[in-house]
Amino acid sequence: EEVVSPYAAVDERDVETSLRPKSLKEFVGQGRVREQLGVVLDSAKARRQPPDHILLSGPPGLGKTSLAFIIAADLGASIRVTSGPAIERAGDLAAMLSTLDEGDVLFIDEIHRIARPAEELLYVAMEDFRVDVVVGKGPGATAIPLDVAPFTLVGATTRSGLLTGPLRDRFGFVAHMDFYADAELESVIARSARLLDIEIEPDGAAEIARRSRGTPRIANRLLRRARDFAQVRADGRLSLEVCRAALDVYDIDEMGLDRLDRMVIDALVRQFNGGPVGVSTLALAVGEEVQTVEEVAEPFLVRAGLLARTPRGRIATRAAWEHIGVPLPHDEARLF
Ligand code: ATP
Repeated sequence: EEVVSPYAAVDERDVETSLRPKSLKEFVGQGRVREQLGVVLDSAKARRQPPDHILLSGPPGLGKTSLAFIIAADLGASIRVTSGPAIERAGDLAAMLSTLDEGDVLFIDEIHRIARPAEELLYVAMEDFRVDVVVGKGPGATAIPLDVAPFTLVGATTRSGLLTGPLRDRFGFVAHMDFYADAELESVIARSARLLDIEIEPDGAAEIARRSRGTPRIANRLLRRARDFAQVRADGRLSLEVCRAALDVYDIDEMGLDRLDRMVIDALVRQFNGGPVGVSTLALAVGEEVQTVEEVAEPFLVRAGLLARTPRGRIATRAAWEHIGVPLPHDEARLF
């Protein structure tokens, strides 16, 4: 299991649910999104109408699902939860929409993965609160319009660029979520520690925050792993030393890099002299699938400023050479 994966593991779902902030006030960070969303919700409540449809866009593990539940709770509305890949046929979606009550929130996670016919049905429903159910096949097929109660769609996506124009245009508000600052993650960790009854010292929380890749899901996971370590190898209290020792056991370095990240950087620097090298060659060198290198390791390495993707291939930045402690060759140094 990837300790620093931004995706939720199946057995983490329950603990994640228990750690979800329940209101905008409790939601840490994302100041701009919180403020904008607060206005959208307050004004809708003042008008006694459902708010515009809301799109939550951003990398995994930053709190999109939490926000969807907060939106429904704030509106005093029921929430129905589904996901793009779960909606295989337009008929499934039509059935779901037809059972919504006025003001309900429909949350569709990974909305960019919804099948095209269902998507077309969805954007008509979003705009006109109507679905056309097609009965019969071939020339005799007829579309029967069905009314849908006014509802609010909350869509979540990690890839808003994959949304078609017509779907994107029907969201009245798009919240762009960004990675969290270390200080914000410290607050997330302090809050989770309270809820899980874990004793943590402020510098221990800061240490975990620094290695959490800007992602609350990872921060919460590292907190739980550090707690396990403290229970069996120390006195249960998460001091700075205990947090450091725990994170070392899980092979997460001081920048939040795990074993695979370091192997990629290491191969790039030592085997390919800093690059440029194609991603498939790089994947071969570290013994991983191309997709794993591209989707798991690279996004963080790029964001951390250690690796750059160029048209000629991947290159290690000066920071990457420094991070693994290999002196930059003299002629290379001039490049940076
Ligand atoms: P995915 O798209 O992968 O499902 P997500 O963006 O929907 O991820 P959530 O499931 O909402 O993320 O959050 C992951 C975990 O991080 C949850 O346990 C939640 O408690 C915690 N979390 C996320 N954002 C915050 C926050 N701002 N404050 C406190 N906890 C947070």
